[in-house]
Amino acid sequence: MLDLETSELSPALAELESKLSADDPYVKGMRIARNRPGVIRIALDLKAEIRPQVFTLKPIGEYGHRLVLDIYPAVDPLAALLEQMQKESRDNPSVARLATIVVDAGHGGEDPGALGRHGSREKEVTLTIAKRLKTLIDAEPNMRAVLTRDGDYFLPLADRVEKARKLRADLFVSIHADSFVRRDARGSSVFALSERRATSEAARWLARKENEADLIGGVNLDVKDRYLAQTLLDLSQTATIDHSLRLGDSVLKRLAGVNTLHRGRVEQASFAVLKAPDVPSILVETAFISNPQEEKRLNDEAYQDKLARAILEGIKDYVAKHPPRPAPVALN
Ligand SMILES: [Zn+2]
Repeated sequence: MLDLETSELSPALAELESKLSADDPYVKGMRIARNRPGVIRIALDLKAEIRPQVFTLKPIGEYGHRLVLDIYPAVDPLAALLEQMQKESRDNPSVARLATIVVDAGHGGEDPGALGRHGSREKEVTLTIAKRLKTLIDAEPNMRAVLTRDGDYFLPLADRVEKARKLRADLFVSIHADSFVRRDARGSSVFALSERRATSEAARWLARKENEADLIGGVNLDVKDRYLAQTLLDLSQTATIDHSLRLGDSVLKRLAGVNTLHRGRVEQASFAVLKAPDVPSILVETAFISNPQEEKRLNDEAYQDKLARAILEGIKDYVAKHPPRPAPVALN
Protein backbone atom coordinates (compact mmCIF):
# COMPACT_ATOMS: atom_id res chain seq x y z
CA MET A 1 0.00 0.00 0.00
CA LEU A 2 1.15 3.49 -0.84
CA ASP A 3 -0.35 6.46 0.97
CA LEU A 4 0.00 9.72 -0.94
CA GLU A 5 -0.47 12.91 1.02
CA THR A 6 -2.54 14.85 -1.49
CA SER A 7 -6.09 15.99 -1.28
CA GLU A 8 -6.87 15.52 -4.97
CA LEU A 9 -7.34 12.37 -6.99
CA SER A 10 -5.65 13.78 -10.12
CA PRO A 11 -6.66 12.48 -13.58
CA ALA A 12 -3.22 10.81 -13.95
CA LEU A 13 -3.80 8.88 -10.73
CA ALA A 14 -7.38 8.02 -11.60
CA GLU A 15 -6.22 6.56 -14.94
CA LEU A 16 -3.58 4.37 -13.35
CA GLU A 17 -5.94 1.45 -12.65
CA SER A 18 -6.89 1.11 -16.32
CA LYS A 19 -3.22 0.95 -17.36
CA LEU A 20 -2.62 -2.32 -15.56
CA SER A 21 -2.62 -5.21 -18.02
CA ALA A 22 -4.02 -8.61 -17.10
CA ASP A 23 -0.78 -10.38 -18.03
CA ASP A 24 1.39 -8.20 -15.77
CA PRO A 25 3.78 -10.69 -14.20
CA TYR A 26 3.63 -9.24 -10.69
CA VAL A 27 0.54 -7.08 -10.14
CA LYS A 28 -2.89 -8.73 -10.06
CA GLY A 29 -5.02 -5.73 -9.24
CA MET A 30 -4.91 -2.10 -8.17
CA ARG A 31 -7.30 0.08 -6.20
CA ILE A 32 -6.96 3.82 -5.81
CA ALA A 33 -9.22 5.71 -3.43
CA ARG A 34 -9.37 8.42 -0.83
CA ASN A 35 -8.40 6.80 2.45
CA ARG A 36 -8.99 9.74 4.78
CA PRO A 37 -9.00 13.52 4.31
CA GLY A 38 -5.78 14.54 2.54
CA VAL A 39 -4.60 10.98 1.83
CA ILE A 40 -5.03 8.93 -1.35
CA ARG A 41 -4.24 5.25 -0.93
CA ILE A 42 -2.97 3.01 -3.74
CA ALA A 43 -3.41 -0.68 -2.93
CA LEU A 44 -1.63 -3.26 -5.10
CA ASP A 45 -2.60 -6.94 -5.09
CA LEU A 46 0.43 -9.02 -6.01
CA LYS A 47 0.75 -12.30 -7.90
CA ALA A 48 4.15 -13.20 -6.51
CA GLU A 49 6.65 -12.22 -3.87
CA ILE A 50 8.52 -9.07 -4.92
CA ARG A 51 11.27 -6.69 -3.83
CA PRO A 52 9.99 -3.08 -4.02
CA GLN A 53 11.99 0.14 -4.33
CA VAL A 54 10.50 3.65 -4.10
CA PHE A 55 12.16 6.92 -5.07
CA THR A 56 11.44 10.30 -6.72
CA LEU A 57 12.73 11.82 -9.97
CA LYS A 58 12.99 15.39 -11.21
CA PRO A 59 11.31 16.41 -14.48
CA ILE A 60 12.94 15.41 -17.79
CA GLY A 61 11.66 15.31 -21.38
CA GLU A 62 7.90 14.99 -21.43
CA TYR A 63 7.77 13.89 -17.77
CA GLY A 64 7.11 16.06 -14.73
CA HIS A 65 7.98 15.20 -11.12
CA ARG A 66 7.68 11.45 -10.66
CA LEU A 67 7.28 9.03 -7.80
CA VAL A 68 8.69 5.70 -8.97
CA LEU A 69 7.78 2.33 -7.50
CA ASP A 70 10.04 -0.36 -8.96
CA ILE A 71 9.01 -3.97 -8.57
CA TYR A 72 11.75 -6.61 -8.83
CA PRO A 73 11.21 -10.37 -8.75
CA ALA A 74 12.13 -11.92 -5.40
CA VAL A 75 13.61 -14.88 -7.27
CA ASP A 76 16.09 -13.95 -9.99
CA PRO A 77 15.14 -15.57 -13.35
CA LEU A 78 18.76 -15.11 -14.50
CA ALA A 79 20.02 -17.37 -11.74
CA ALA A 80 17.83 -20.15 -13.17
CA LEU A 81 19.22 -19.62 -16.68
CA LEU A 82 22.81 -19.64 -15.40
CA GLU A 83 22.08 -22.84 -13.48
CA GLN A 84 20.79 -24.46 -16.65
CA MET A 85 23.87 -23.41 -18.64
CA GLN A 86 26.17 -24.80 -15.96
CA LYS A 87 24.25 -28.08 -15.93
CA GLU A 88 24.60 -28.37 -19.72
CA SER A 89 28.36 -27.94 -19.54
CA ARG A 90 28.55 -30.52 -16.69
CA ASP A 91 26.50 -33.03 -18.69
CA ASN A 92 28.58 -32.56 -21.84
CA PRO A 93 32.09 -31.80 -20.64
CA SER A 94 33.66 -32.92 -23.93
CA VAL A 95 31.66 -30.43 -25.99
CA ALA A 96 33.52 -27.15 -26.50
CA ARG A 97 31.85 -24.37 -24.53
CA LEU A 98 29.45 -22.17 -26.50
CA ALA A 99 30.28 -18.48 -26.67
CA THR A 100 27.44 -16.58 -24.98
CA ILE A 101 26.64 -13.32 -26.73
CA VAL A 102 24.31 -10.88 -24.96
CA VAL A 103 22.39 -8.84 -27.54
CA ASP A 104 20.97 -5.61 -26.17
CA ALA A 105 18.17 -3.78 -27.99
CA GLY A 106 18.68 -0.12 -27.06
CA HIS A 107 15.94 1.85 -25.21
CA GLY A 108 12.38 0.51 -24.69
CA GLY A 109 9.15 1.35 -22.86
CA GLU A 110 8.82 5.01 -21.89
CA ASP A 111 12.28 5.66 -23.37
CA PRO A 112 11.66 5.58 -27.14
CA GLY A 113 15.22 6.60 -28.07
CA ALA A 114 15.70 8.71 -31.19
CA LEU A 115 12.78 9.52 -33.50
CA GLY A 116 12.87 9.41 -37.30
CA ARG A 117 11.40 12.20 -39.39
CA HIS A 118 8.77 9.78 -40.68
CA GLY A 119 7.86 8.58 -37.20
CA SER A 120 10.09 5.52 -36.73
CA ARG A 121 11.14 4.93 -33.16
CA GLU A 122 14.64 3.77 -32.30
CA LYS A 123 13.36 1.35 -29.62
CA GLU A 124 11.39 -0.58 -32.26
CA VAL A 125 14.13 -0.68 -34.89
CA THR A 126 16.70 -1.84 -32.32
CA LEU A 127 14.45 -4.65 -31.07
CA THR A 128 13.78 -5.95 -34.60
CA ILE A 129 17.48 -5.99 -35.49
CA ALA A 130 18.43 -7.50 -32.10
CA LYS A 131 15.94 -10.34 -32.58
CA ARG A 132 17.28 -11.02 -36.08
CA LEU A 133 20.82 -11.07 -34.74
CA LYS A 134 19.83 -13.50 -31.98
CA THR A 135 18.31 -15.90 -34.53
CA LEU A 136 21.48 -15.75 -36.64
CA ILE A 137 23.78 -16.29 -33.62
CA ASP A 138 21.70 -19.22 -32.34
CA ALA A 139 22.05 -20.90 -35.75
CA GLU A 140 25.85 -20.93 -35.34
CA PRO A 141 27.24 -24.18 -33.90
CA ASN A 142 29.58 -22.51 -31.38
CA MET A 143 27.47 -19.61 -30.11
CA ARG A 144 24.29 -18.79 -28.27
CA ALA A 145 22.56 -15.43 -27.85
CA VAL A 146 20.59 -14.00 -24.94
CA LEU A 147 18.50 -10.83 -25.37
CA THR A 148 18.47 -8.23 -22.60
CA ARG A 149 14.87 -7.38 -23.50
CA ASP A 150 12.46 -9.16 -25.85
CA GLY A 151 9.57 -6.72 -25.74
CA ASP A 152 8.73 -3.04 -25.46
CA TYR A 153 9.55 -2.28 -21.85
CA PHE A 154 11.99 -0.08 -19.97
CA LEU A 155 15.21 -1.66 -18.74
CA PRO A 156 17.80 0.39 -16.79
CA LEU A 157 21.29 0.56 -18.32
CA ALA A 158 22.94 -0.98 -15.24
CA ASP A 159 20.51 -3.93 -15.36
CA ARG A 160 21.59 -4.66 -18.94
CA VAL A 161 25.22 -4.70 -17.79
CA GLU A 162 24.35 -6.87 -14.80
CA LYS A 163 22.58 -9.39 -16.99
CA ALA A 164 25.73 -9.89 -19.08
CA ARG A 165 27.87 -10.23 -15.96
CA LYS A 166 25.55 -12.69 -14.22
CA LEU A 167 25.45 -14.89 -17.32
CA ARG A 168 29.26 -14.66 -17.52
CA ALA A 169 28.74 -13.63 -21.12
CA ASP A 170 31.67 -13.67 -23.51
CA LEU A 171 30.51 -10.60 -25.45
CA PHE A 172 27.94 -7.81 -25.14
CA VAL A 173 26.55 -6.03 -28.21
CA SER A 174 24.16 -3.08 -27.79
CA ILE A 175 22.12 -2.13 -30.88
CA HIS A 176 21.13 1.50 -31.53
CA ALA A 177 20.16 3.93 -34.32
CA ASP A 178 21.81 7.34 -34.25
CA SER A 179 20.26 10.79 -34.63
CA PHE A 180 21.57 14.26 -35.28
CA VAL A 181 20.11 17.70 -35.88
CA ARG A 182 21.50 17.73 -39.42
CA ARG A 183 19.37 15.43 -41.54
CA ASP A 184 22.26 14.60 -43.88
CA ALA A 185 24.31 12.97 -41.08
CA ARG A 186 24.64 9.31 -42.06
CA GLY A 187 26.53 6.06 -41.71
CA SER A 188 27.25 3.30 -39.19
CA SER A 189 29.44 3.72 -36.09
CA VAL A 190 30.81 1.40 -33.42
CA PHE A 191 31.75 2.48 -29.89
CA ALA A 192 33.72 1.01 -27.00
CA LEU A 193 34.03 2.29 -23.46
CA SER A 194 36.53 4.99 -22.61
CA GLU A 195 37.82 5.15 -19.03
CA ARG A 196 38.99 8.72 -19.45
CA ARG A 197 38.21 11.10 -22.28
CA ALA A 198 35.90 10.60 -25.21
CA THR A 199 37.77 10.26 -28.51
CA SER A 200 35.73 13.07 -30.06
CA GLU A 201 33.26 15.78 -29.10
CA ALA A 202 30.56 13.92 -31.07
CA ALA A 203 31.25 10.70 -29.14
CA ARG A 204 30.94 12.55 -25.83
CA TRP A 205 27.68 14.17 -26.94
CA LEU A 206 26.27 10.83 -28.07
CA ALA A 207 27.24 9.09 -24.81
CA ARG A 208 25.47 11.78 -22.80
CA LYS A 209 22.36 11.31 -24.97
CA GLU A 210 22.38 7.50 -24.68
CA ASN A 211 23.02 7.66 -20.92
CA GLU A 212 19.92 9.85 -20.50
CA ALA A 213 17.81 6.71 -20.98
CA ASP A 214 17.88 6.04 -17.24
CA LEU A 215 16.58 9.52 -16.43
CA ILE A 216 13.73 9.15 -18.90
CA GLY A 217 12.84 5.62 -17.85
CA GLY A 218 13.10 6.45 -14.15
CA VAL A 219 16.11 4.96 -12.40
CA ASN A 220 17.40 5.56 -8.90
CA LEU A 221 20.81 6.71 -10.16
CA ASP A 222 22.38 7.11 -6.73
CA VAL A 223 22.36 3.38 -6.12
CA LYS A 224 23.33 2.34 -9.63
CA ASP A 225 26.17 4.84 -9.93
CA ARG A 226 27.79 3.62 -6.76
CA TYR A 227 27.67 0.09 -8.10
CA LEU A 228 29.21 1.09 -11.40
CA ALA A 229 31.84 3.34 -9.86
CA GLN A 230 33.05 0.43 -7.81
CA THR A 231 33.14 -2.07 -10.63
CA LEU A 232 35.16 0.42 -12.67
CA LEU A 233 37.96 0.07 -10.16
CA ASP A 234 38.38 -3.49 -11.31
CA LEU A 235 41.74 -3.84 -13.00
CA SER A 236 40.31 -6.14 -15.63
CA GLN A 237 38.58 -3.14 -17.20
CA THR A 238 41.68 -2.12 -19.18
CA ALA A 239 42.10 -5.58 -20.71
CA THR A 240 38.36 -5.72 -21.40
CA ILE A 241 38.44 -2.41 -23.26
CA ASP A 242 41.31 -3.71 -25.38
CA HIS A 243 39.14 -6.67 -26.39
CA SER A 244 36.11 -4.43 -26.91
CA LEU A 245 38.17 -2.43 -29.41
CA ARG A 246 39.17 -5.61 -31.26
CA LEU A 247 35.54 -6.79 -31.39
CA GLY A 248 34.44 -3.30 -32.48
CA ASP A 249 37.02 -3.27 -35.24
CA SER A 250 35.84 -6.64 -36.60
CA VAL A 251 32.20 -5.49 -36.59
CA LEU A 252 33.01 -2.10 -38.14
CA LYS A 253 34.89 -3.77 -41.00
CA ARG A 254 31.86 -5.93 -41.80
CA LEU A 255 29.44 -3.00 -41.51
CA ALA A 256 31.53 -1.22 -44.15
CA GLY A 257 30.17 -3.82 -46.59
CA VAL A 258 26.54 -2.80 -46.06
CA ASN A 259 26.65 0.91 -45.22
CA THR A 260 28.96 3.91 -45.36
CA LEU A 261 30.87 4.39 -42.12
CA HIS A 262 30.20 7.52 -40.12
CA ARG A 263 33.79 7.35 -38.88
CA GLY A 264 36.52 5.01 -40.07
CA ARG A 265 37.47 3.67 -36.66
CA VAL A 266 35.97 2.50 -33.37
CA GLU A 267 35.26 5.48 -31.13
CA GLN A 268 35.32 5.60 -27.34
CA ALA A 269 33.24 7.41 -24.76
CA SER A 270 31.73 6.85 -21.33
CA PHE A 271 28.62 4.81 -22.22
CA ALA A 272 27.00 3.42 -19.07
CA VAL A 273 25.78 0.32 -20.91
CA LEU A 274 29.36 -0.69 -21.82
CA LYS A 275 30.69 -0.71 -18.26
CA ALA A 276 30.91 -4.43 -17.52
CA PRO A 277 34.52 -4.73 -16.31
CA ASP A 278 34.86 -8.34 -17.45
CA VAL A 279 32.76 -8.60 -20.64
CA PRO A 280 34.04 -7.07 -23.90
CA SER A 281 31.21 -4.71 -24.90
CA ILE A 282 30.40 -2.60 -27.94
CA LEU A 283 27.60 -0.23 -28.92
CA VAL A 284 26.61 -0.27 -32.60
CA GLU A 285 24.87 2.76 -34.08
CA THR A 286 23.51 0.89 -37.10
CA ALA A 287 22.55 4.00 -39.08
CA PHE A 288 21.02 7.45 -38.61
CA ILE A 289 17.29 7.23 -37.98
CA SER A 290 17.24 11.05 -38.35
CA ASN A 291 18.37 10.72 -41.97
CA PRO A 292 15.20 10.09 -44.07
CA GLN A 293 17.02 7.73 -46.47
CA GLU A 294 18.60 5.70 -43.69
CA GLU A 295 15.31 5.72 -41.73
CA LYS A 296 13.62 4.07 -44.70
CA ARG A 297 16.31 1.43 -44.92
CA LEU A 298 16.20 0.75 -41.17
CA ASN A 299 12.55 -0.26 -41.65
CA ASP A 300 13.30 -2.47 -44.64
CA GLU A 301 13.39 -6.17 -43.69
CA ALA A 302 16.03 -7.10 -46.24
CA TYR A 303 18.26 -4.29 -45.01
CA GLN A 304 17.69 -5.16 -41.33
CA ASP A 305 18.86 -8.65 -42.24
CA LYS A 306 21.99 -7.27 -43.93
CA LEU A 307 22.84 -5.24 -40.84
CA ALA A 308 22.30 -8.23 -38.53
CA ARG A 309 24.41 -10.46 -40.78
CA ALA A 310 27.23 -7.91 -40.90
CA ILE A 311 27.27 -7.72 -37.09
CA LEU A 312 27.20 -11.54 -36.90
CA GLU A 313 30.16 -11.84 -39.31
CA GLY A 314 32.10 -9.31 -37.24
CA ILE A 315 31.39 -11.31 -34.05
CA LYS A 316 32.47 -14.52 -35.82
CA ASP A 317 35.73 -12.91 -36.98
CA TYR A 318 36.46 -11.94 -33.39
CA VAL A 319 35.47 -15.30 -31.87
CA ALA A 320 37.64 -17.15 -34.43
CA LYS A 321 40.65 -15.21 -33.12
CA HIS A 322 39.59 -15.26 -29.46
CA PRO A 323 37.71 -18.47 -28.63
CA PRO A 324 35.71 -18.51 -25.37
CA ARG A 325 37.65 -19.19 -22.19
CA PRO A 326 37.31 -22.77 -20.96
CA ALA A 327 34.47 -23.40 -18.51
CA PRO A 328 35.53 -22.99 -14.90
CA VAL A 329 36.35 -26.32 -13.23
CA ALA A 330 34.01 -27.21 -10.36
CA LEU A 331 35.95 -27.54 -7.13
CA ASN A 332 33.51 -29.69 -5.17
ZN1 LIG B 1 20.23 4.86 -28.76
